[in-house]
Amino acid sequence: MSVRTIAAIATPLGEGGISVIRISGEDAISIADKCFYAFSGKALSALDGYMAAYGKVVDNNGSALDDAVALVFRAPKSYTGENVVEISVHGGTVIARQVLRRVLECGAVLATGGEFTKRAFLNGKLDLTKAESVMGLISARNDAAAKISRGAREGRISRDTQDILNKLLETAASLAAFADYPDEDIPNLNEENFAALLDECRFKCEKLISTYDTGRIIREGINCAIVGKPNVGKSTLMNMLCGSDRSIVTNIAGTTRDVVETTVNIGDVTLNLADTAGIHDTNDTVEKFGVDKAKEKIDNAELLLAVFDNSSAIDNDDRQLLGSIKDKKCIIILNKTDLPQQFDKQELSCFETIEISAREGNGMAELCSAINRVCKLEMLSPDDTVLINERQRDCVNRALNAVVSASDALAYGMTLDAVGVCIDDAIAALLELTGKRVTNEVCDEIFKRFCVGK
Ligand code: GDP
Repeated sequence: MSVRTIAAIATPLGEGGISVIRISGEDAISIADKCFYAFSGKALSALDGYMAAYGKVVDNNGSALDDAVALVFRAPKSYTGENVVEISVHGGTVIARQVLRRVLECGAVLATGGEFTKRAFLNGKLDLTKAESVMGLISARNDAAAKISRGAREGRISRDTQDILNKLLETAASLAAFADYPDEDIPNLNEENFAALLDECRFKCEKLISTYDTGRIIREGINCAIVGKPNVGKSTLMNMLCGSDRSIVTNIAGTTRDVVETTVNIGDVTLNLADTAGIHDTNDTVEKFGVDKAKEKIDNAELLLAVFDNSSAIDNDDRQLLGSIKDKKCIIILNKTDLPQQFDKQELSCFETIEISAREGNGMAELCSAINRVCKLEMLSPDDTVLINERQRDCVNRALNAVVSASDALAYGMTLDAVGVCIDDAIAALLELTGKRVTNEVCDEIFKRFCVGK
């Protein structure tokens, strides 16, 4: 069955320097030749791969739509592994759409979401983990998230998975040999060795899975609530972190009555921040509603920044708050350190505490390292392999469970066939991870999350 040539706008729609219309498929070059004329007079089909031509895109009457540069890639040396032409025109929604329409008139069909990358996968240019990393790179919200996806793009997940696969395949082959020739004295073929190999696989799967949560925090940001009683400086802290007046700051208690939310990048981390109403006893109906919402935020937050006022003595509201957060992931922020100290710091001794003056804008670096410590981000080395989505975690988890079952089967003296079946399950889960053995449904599910043009 012949594969249709697809086209889409590859750049975001809007005003910008250039827009790129990407065409991929066997007929990409001949289709582009129908609507693009090089000023040199040379057809694109006469160009080698990686060559560019300057010319114009014309409509069906021969009128110019725009000046353009056409870049030719010849199969298999392209992103998709097919013939590809990328036509760059002036940036702007109307021109890009007109050129795309013209390309479709000339014989291409509109690409679906992720179809270019899906073709790259089907043509063996990328495995699934690398394809998914492309999406991760595009959607990265901070440097660390981009770093993790770059690592996956360079093949770290594939490499580590292959490492485990090799061990499992070695174990499966040895088991088969052992089952066939139980009386032969073949070196290294004994149950102790099988158990050791399985242990190694288990350790490697567990290590991969352990990176997932940190990776998720880095990718999606930490849901973080700023809490504390009124007037301790929560809104001032929020504004310091945002670098703008996101929350209203006054010395009138109860000014922030609702939850104010925003997203900020602190060092390598994205915080999905919520500034909450001060938690205290109140009879004011509106304020009470805000306090209830603040309590809900505390329950749902992954990290709490609990603010206390260095310039006043600790009171019952403070103690109540400390009691309610003691089992949560939190950082105590002792604010207003520019004023004389009244707060008894002893009461904070069992918490991760930093001292700042939000009004003066100092303490950012300390906060940044406290977040890294509390969220254990500093344990992640730049060279670590990090699983980047739930599908990957699920595959490795299934492999881990199967490896554990294989070890148990071996320990309980079950038949070697039973051990072999568990190892086959582990192998299947890892082959699904890299896409070497994956159903069309899973494949479609993965690529439909991509944007059109990628
Ligand atoms: P919130 O009710 O906890 O959100 O507190 P605000 O951020 O509205 O601040 C209450 C008052 O404390 C305001 O008058 C702020 O200017 C003042 N304030 C906040 N942070 C500091 C600080 O670091 N030092 C001093 N001296 N005053 C501060």
